[in-house]
Amino acid sequence: MAKIRILPDALASQVAAGEVVERPAALVRELVENSLDAGARHIEVHAQRGGIAMIRIVDDGSGMDREDAMLCLERHATSKIRTKEDLGAIHTFGFRGEALPSIASVSRFRLATREKEALVGTEIEVNGGKLVGVKDHGGAPGTVIEARSLFFNVPARRKFLRTENTEFAHVEQQLRLHAIANPQVAFTLTHNGELVLHLPATRDMLERIRGLVGDELASRLLKVEETTVRGVTVSGYIGGPGMSRSNRQMQTTYLNGRPIESASISYGLREGYHTALMKGQYPVTFLFIQMDAQAFDVNVHPAKKEVRFHDGNSVRDAISRSVSHTLENAAKLPTGHAPARSPLPSPAAARTPVVPESRQEQFAMPVDASTAPLRNVEPTQPQPLARPAAKDSWSAAHDVPERKPVETIAMPQRVVVPAAKAETESEKAGGREDATKADAEAAPADASSSSASSPSAPPEFRIIGVLHKLYVLMESKEGLVMMDQHAAHERVNFEKFRRALETGGVPCQRLLMPITLQTTPRDADLLKQNLPALNRLGIEIEPFGPNIFKVETLPSFLKTDDPAAWLDQVIEELSSLSSKSSTLRLSEDAIATTACRASVKSNDVLSIPELQALLKDLFACEMPYCCPHGRPTLVQISTAELERKFGRRAPG
Ligand code: ADP
Ligand code: MG
Repeated sequence: MAKIRILPDALASQVAAGEVVERPAALVRELVENSLDAGARHIEVHAQRGGIAMIRIVDDGSGMDREDAMLCLERHATSKIRTKEDLGAIHTFGFRGEALPSIASVSRFRLATREKEALVGTEIEVNGGKLVGVKDHGGAPGTVIEARSLFFNVPARRKFLRTENTEFAHVEQQLRLHAIANPQVAFTLTHNGELVLHLPATRDMLERIRGLVGDELASRLLKVEETTVRGVTVSGYIGGPGMSRSNRQMQTTYLNGRPIESASISYGLREGYHTALMKGQYPVTFLFIQMDAQAFDVNVHPAKKEVRFHDGNSVRDAISRSVSHTLENAAKLPTGHAPARSPLPSPAAARTPVVPESRQEQFAMPVDASTAPLRNVEPTQPQPLARPAAKDSWSAAHDVPERKPVETIAMPQRVVVPAAKAETESEKAGGREDATKADAEAAPADASSSSASSPSAPPEFRIIGVLHKLYVLMESKEGLVMMDQHAAHERVNFEKFRRALETGGVPCQRLLMPITLQTTPRDADLLKQNLPALNRLGIEIEPFGPNIFKVETLPSFLKTDDPAAWLDQVIEELSSLSSKSSTLRLSEDAIATTACRASVKSNDVLSIPELQALLKDLFACEMPYCCPHGRPTLVQISTAELERKFGRRAPG
């Protein structure tokens, strides 16, 4: 007897539904895509009990007439493609015509829709794939789709749903993905009646990102200038060196506006980041790829998450180049990165998105060294260390209790720093010289407060000794770590300096004898232009005649026997800034790096407690892994590498 049977349509839909809508977040993906395809400007997503009890999407898009409203519930009913050729160049999110029938077959489903000019709209009710009723709908133009009791009729699938919190986390993550790619669309998300996200429309992508990830993280992003290589256009924002995550959840990439994952893209990112990314870590990216719809196939993954590029190498290349170019440009700046600044805010952008602060923090969760230790660096050459993994993630954040950043500062267990000694660095910055009022103001710049802004718990390092009075040798769990004491000091002082600047008081020392500086007319102009920056940095300098300046004070932590020569260096540094880009911030950074170079001497002999304090201060820095000039502060040789070098382990 024949065993093969054609499934009844309703059952076939349910089977297919499992592919398309495996969980509430998938409904959100499909329905939001439909709303975007329908040209909506406002999209509301309401979820109850993780979206399992209910998902409702309200949009102000085109709506449907009655015929289309009925038709859209049929399988393979779509308005988006017509011919085989259309399938080769898809310009919409949807194209399979299976989302709505699938959703309707596994839920208690309601569709209410109305076209803008229509006198009356249509409301359709479907229960587990069975049409219950059709009636007039008098609501606003646009479409409302509601799916209740997901999988109520497919217990086998319902079993696979996770907790309500986890499901909701996925729902939120899904909406965030769409929200980032569509800043011009306003999004609202509620859960159990509570507002979770409210993102007003904006023309500024960074504004939208900021609304989702918070100021702190957004301000550290680098802008990827739009570039096209062999038909692949790349733009967006990426994290600078030292910004990474232990999972892919903040590695978001879009192809023609569709959030996708692809091996070519991942390779491109990895290549682009090169040494700026530690092995096993993932970058933070909001990267947009635009290319001809004929150059790839989206019809390869049930959830449309993956695509097949006809020429994956071009994509990989374009991404790798854009990323490395962006990182290199950023590294040219003294801070190691050019913070992404938004252009003048558009009127819409000026409104602050109503995203509860606590939710923003979930994205920018501080580094937690206990769960994210420094990892081994395997390549054959000793590698600069990169920042350890941050614990944050987009969706997992829901399951992670919030932590106050300052709590995450943990001293290495084997490196015990007496409380008094821990202050060494702040003493150095201000305390060594006259304790002026400025010092008191600069107090927030000490290590403990720096930890509040961007903490990074020091891993366990045991100091073994110091080589050439410069390289501190340390034992770590992973192997041998070397710290360039001079570079580390520069980094610490630089960040201290910048913070003091931001909090309004740079400690300075009054010179016993003011210095008179004779300059060329060109340098005189340069100094005059930069007087505000110089003053803000504790250098009291004023014109004292034609091409002559009088200098009254210098930054207090400067260690120089020849202040005049140091000032020459400052002038040199300032003149190397191209006039186009010399903002106050850049000038300040140029002066600050020069000051920091002169703030330490390589042959300073530091005691073990002083070194420990330096290490602690270094790990309290925002960018601990390179000095303000971009050179590494820490280099690690893994035990495996040592074993290979000594022939205890086979190479490779
Ligand atoms: P697809 O998106 O692949 O076309 P769907 O099942 O998701 O398939 O939707 C079927 C059709 O229903 C769409 O092609 C579109 O014409 C219509 N539709 C769905 N959602 C909306 C909406 N929110 N607004 C207007 N039309 C919609
Ligand atoms: Mg669709």
